[in-house]
Amino acid sequence: MGAQELRFDGQTVVVTGAGGGLGKAYSLFFASRGANVVVNDLGGSFKGEGSGSKAADAVVEEIKSKGGKAVANYDDVSNGEAIIDTAIKAFGRVDVLLNNAGILRDVSFKNMKDQDWDLIFKVHVKGAYKCARAAWPHMRQQKYGRIINTASVAGLFGSFGQCNYSAAKLAQVGFSETLAKEGMKYNILVNCIAPIAASRMTETVMPPEVLSALKPDRIVPLVAVLVHSSNTTETGSIFEVGAGHQAKIRWERSKGLLLKADSSLTPGSVIAGWDKVNDFSEAEYPQGPANFLELLEESQKISKNST
Ligand code: NAD
Repeated sequence: MGAQELRFDGQTVVVTGAGGGLGKAYSLFFASRGANVVVNDLGGSFKGEGSGSKAADAVVEEIKSKGGKAVANYDDVSNGEAIIDTAIKAFGRVDVLLNNAGILRDVSFKNMKDQDWDLIFKVHVKGAYKCARAAWPHMRQQKYGRIINTASVAGLFGSFGQCNYSAAKLAQVGFSETLAKEGMKYNILVNCIAPIAASRMTETVMPPEVLSALKPDRIVPLVAVLVHSSNTTETGSIFEVGAGHQAKIRWERSKGLLLKADSSLTPGSVIAGWDKVNDFSEAEYPQGPANFLELLEESQKISKNST
């Protein structure tokens, strides 16, 4: 990937949840770099209540006033077909999909209601799925596509009072990893970001002096690099990005405890080898599951488990 100014002329970028925060920053940037932008936003509250056209319209107006090309779409992300349809009708193609729309329904697990759980999954998980599903045939056919799904550190590490959000955000990782595998053959690259930025979503949980240093614009460059045509290899990856910091997150697997896979494998033998389960001194960074057939063969050579 070169360090030249990245351009997106002639490409169509669909940004969900583009009426504010990160989505607005993406939309303004990609339009300024020549892309046709679909500015989707349902226009509700950060808790997912209400709807309106104002948020998306204001971003489209701003893009147009600067000479850019954009159209608004006000559909719920769970209606992905309508959003992609807007792109096809207005611009004839879709090259980049930024699955960004999101809401919060924070509540302790004890007080979690099905409605809080379901709405979070509808917006984050079903929304990302429906938009990607609708864009997929177009991307496959043109043998080009770039998708970003938006995870969160809440999903990667857990976050008090956000079990619904955490679960839905980690879902973006598995979703991205699988789409990356299925999309590779068609030059569709799919990555996942866990951003930290000041927005209405975080203004209640971060102090003002911190928020002012965390502009959503600071998330845009990494995303632009990932979705640009000069990225031909980076796919299925997770990036943590914010406050000027861009880092990749990967899995780590301990060498582990290998026991004979027969009835001598008891809770006691696992306890006896617990240190080995947790020992990362000979760890690896796996791209896939452990080779169970190889491990089984090795395990059969063990004479018997000690406890
Ligand atoms: P934001 O509230 O400013 O933006 C989210 C946008 O999504 C809003 O404009 C909202 O109207 C829109 N939206 C909500 N539900 C929608 C739906 N059903 N259909 C269409 N649009 C809908 O918040 P943000 O901080 O810019 O968040 C953007 C994304 O980044 C979200 O997915 C969020 O979970 C994720 N995220 C943000 C942070 C952060 O620090 N800001 C951290 C981790 C993850």
